[in-house]
Amino acid sequence: MTTANQQFASDNYSGICPEAWDAMARANQGHDRAYGDDQWTARAADHFRQLFETDCEVFFAFNGTAANSLALSALCQSYHSVICGDIAHIETDECGAPEFFSNGSKLLVARTEQGKLTPAAIREIALKRKDIHYPKPQVVSITQATEIGTVYRPDELRAISDTCKELGLHLHMDGARFANACAHLSLSPAELSWKAGVDVLCFGGTKNGMAVGEAILFFNRALAEDFEYRCKQAGQLASKMRFLSAPWVGLLENGAWMKYAEHANQCARLLAELVSDVPDVELMFPVEANGVFVSIPPLALEALRSRGWMFYTFIGVGGARFMCSWDTSEERVRQLAKDIRAVVLQNQ
Ligand SMILES: *Cc1c(COP(=O)(O)O)cnc(C)c1O
Repeated sequence: MTTANQQFASDNYSGICPEAWDAMARANQGHDRAYGDDQWTARAADHFRQLFETDCEVFFAFNGTAANSLALSALCQSYHSVICGDIAHIETDECGAPEFFSNGSKLLVARTEQGKLTPAAIREIALKRKDIHYPKPQVVSITQATEIGTVYRPDELRAISDTCKELGLHLHMDGARFANACAHLSLSPAELSWKAGVDVLCFGGTKNGMAVGEAILFFNRALAEDFEYRCKQAGQLASKMRFLSAPWVGLLENGAWMKYAEHANQCARLLAELVSDVPDVELMFPVEANGVFVSIPPLALEALRSRGWMFYTFIGVGGARFMCSWDTSEERVRQLAKDIRAVVLQNQ
């Protein structure tokens, strides 16, 4: 496999990991039942229940936008609102899908610290207004790992879920990079989800080596009532569901999900370390997951682009985001770091 063209723009630039690919091939034998009544979907759901050490309800969607939006719509009436961070994917990168699928539930944006919501920020929004003219807060949504690559600790999660309980709010977790958070903290999925008070988790597969697919786990099973109808109506019920669920079996059965998350995190740490002493380059946030955010002078960024590197600069002036994937090669990380050093020194 060639690694020469590996880029760091996003962790979804990567391809499909061998475990997911192999499971797809195994599922591609003969006929099986459709619409999720197949053996692979049952097995994948069982793997989740085993991994999370609880009897949760499991559903599958094509992508994170659908998973988040449908999960939130299950927790809200149209007159309710969802409190989320100012940089939350559901707020900035889902084209209004959460509002669309919930028939208008409004997202209320709270300030974040290092990408994380805090009990104080949640309280501020939730208690701001109590009158009938304001969309009634019903859910808090947090992202683990966060959009800027930081990770909530169990005590931070617990403090948030305690606040939610006190205020009568459900807790949703966007886990597009949940695996990276587990890897960083060496904690079990249960400890970072239901044991910390999370009601619903959208567990990302795409960025961890699958072609497509996210799982929606309801730890609070009552909230999953009729959820299968919601999925179907939203065009998220795959008729050949086994090809959406089998890759999960591949990822979960032998721990590949953790192996790859650890690898991606390790590559991010290596990149951060290699550029840490480059003058005029600063890490913008602690590197806890698979993303490295650095502030680099604009001219150097341009030069980096002309050397063929792809990356996003949508966050903060002069900042660049580099994401590592399940298959990122260490050699490629070293090349990138070397080029960052070179362009910065050239443009000083
Ligand atoms: C990638 C990502 C998603 C899912 O995005 P889709 O493109 O809809 O699959 C959700 N949340 C976060 C934080 C993400 O980074």
